[in-house]
Amino acid sequence: MTTDKTATGKALKQFVQTDQFWNVNEVPVSTEALAAQTGRPAPAAAARKSGPTREQVEQLEALDEQHVKTCQKCGLHTTRNHTVFGAGNANARLVFVGEGPGAEEDRQGIPFVGRAGQLLTKMIAAMGLTRDDVYITNIVKCRPPNNRDPASEEIVACSPYLMEQLRIIDPEVIVALGAPASKTLLQTSAPIGRLRGQYHEFKLGDFMTDAQTIPLMPTFHPAYLLRSPDQKKKAWDDLQQVMALLNLPIPGRRT
Ligand code: SF4
Repeated sequence: MTTDKTATGKALKQFVQTDQFWNVNEVPVSTEALAAQTGRPAPAAAARKSGPTREQVEQLEALDEQHVKTCQKCGLHTTRNHTVFGAGNANARLVFVGEGPGAEEDRQGIPFVGRAGQLLTKMIAAMGLTRDDVYITNIVKCRPPNNRDPASEEIVACSPYLMEQLRIIDPEVIVALGAPASKTLLQTSAPIGRLRGQYHEFKLGDFMTDAQTIPLMPTFHPAYLLRSPDQKKKAWDDLQQVMALLNLPIPGRRT
């Protein structure tokens, strides 16, 4: 009985988060009940492949401590307060990639902690996950002044760090947040409005063969969603596609 109440409470909480932040009016279904019906694991278990290995944690720490924190490969090092490496599960199935740190991230050294970060946290909660289930990082690890888009030479200088992070984590899906991240990772000039809503293939540099690509879903950046809340439904549609690929129960969908 306690378990039923807990499961119902969790499902209701996810539904409220979904409804509140994505303006989606659907019938809440217990994620555990849905998992039982479909044979899929419930979100908390499904979100992780397993805990990160010590090797994964140590490799990420070494990359941050020995390379990124002291990096001067591009001009952004002259104006930064802190590098912002990334945060989350070193063995995450899902990695979010934004364009670069903002003012608050630069102050704290943690990705997505400003207003846009708070919305990203809500987006992740609406998926039935927490920030500890996923990994969050950016294309460039130092803040571009005045929150401008990273310049191409800055992206070229910093990209090897992101590629190495992705090689270590080896996620099943990448969500690119906003136009700069999507265009950089997919090496295209197509607008985000045309890229989002469908999966693309991300090729992880020289580390993987063409056959070993990672599905990438472009969607709107939370900062854009704060300015254009009417676009939240489209972003939620994108995230539901990610949930489907990861076999995560989708609130209200009886499959
Ligand atoms: S943005 Fe990247 S390449 Fe440029 S200084 Fe910072 S860590 Fe180095």
